[in-house]
Amino acid sequence: ELKGKTAIITGSNSGIGLGVARELARAGADVVLNSFTDNDEDHRLAQEIGAEFNVTARYIQADMSNPEACRALIEQAGACDILVNNAGIQHVSPIEDFPTEKWDAIIAINMSSTFHCTAAALPMMRKAGWGRVVNIASAHGLTASPFKSAYVAAKHGVVGLTKVTALETAQELITANAICPGYVKTPLVEAQVPDTAKKYDMTEEEAVQKVILERQPSKEFATVEQIGGTAVFLCSAAADQITGTTISVDGGWTAL
Ligand code: NAD
Repeated sequence: ELKGKTAIITGSNSGIGLGVARELARAGADVVLNSFTDNDEDHRLAQEIGAEFNVTARYIQADMSNPEACRALIEQAGACDILVNNAGIQHVSPIEDFPTEKWDAIIAINMSSTFHCTAAALPMMRKAGWGRVVNIASAHGLTASPFKSAYVAAKHGVVGLTKVTALETAQELITANAICPGYVKTPLVEAQVPDTAKKYDMTEEEAVQKVILERQPSKEFATVEQIGGTAVFLCSAAADQITGTTISVDGGWTAL
């Protein structure tokens, strides 16, 4: 039961972030949604969550590639008991062709935003005497794939930062952990299915099983609800002594 707690979820107008926000709201937390856009649809998403789960839900625009905007998001929210660092982007290219601006953007959004948001949130957690930092890393925070240099570097960085955050808060009622999803069924991943099928001349079912889920032994996608449920668990009293570690939700990927 997270009633009275305020959760800020970065990059939460779609996909995993939205799923995590919904599950935290279902558990009773007030939620702050975020992305870099400021559309009616963004604010409507927050309204809908507030109405569905009877919590306070707000949308605050902030670009997670900008350090000041990261810190301003936390300040503007006014409270932060639970921080979910989720915003992330991807770019796929061999190292020698990897555009510098893509490298910089991925490091900034996927990794540095976690540092800036955490730095702004920890004083609020200390003041409240309780806090949870939940970083959405990836199986790529623990293992690598070719052509994803910036993403793999950033996600390994997030796992490292998670450990440091945990050590600096170890004697307080604050924990910091990283969730490491394998492939999760999000609109973005689903959109890749038809193209992948066409590229390999396979049915969509085959493309999912043989190409997209090649490294996921369960041959099933994780769901955003499962990632959200894992975040809720990390916010529960059962997880009070779980800190500085990773929880894989990857259908066995990292067991390979
Ligand atoms: P997504 O594209 O649906 O969500 C990304 C979110 O980040 C969106 O809400 C987007 O608006 C936001 N975002 C992007 N750039 C931003 C910026 N500059 N400022 C603020 N917000 C920004 O993708 P997703 O799959 O839900 O990914 C969410 C997180 O989960 C990412 O960190 C991703 O690396 C991680 N992840 C995803 C998978 C997967 O299979 N989908 C697996 C492992 C890890």
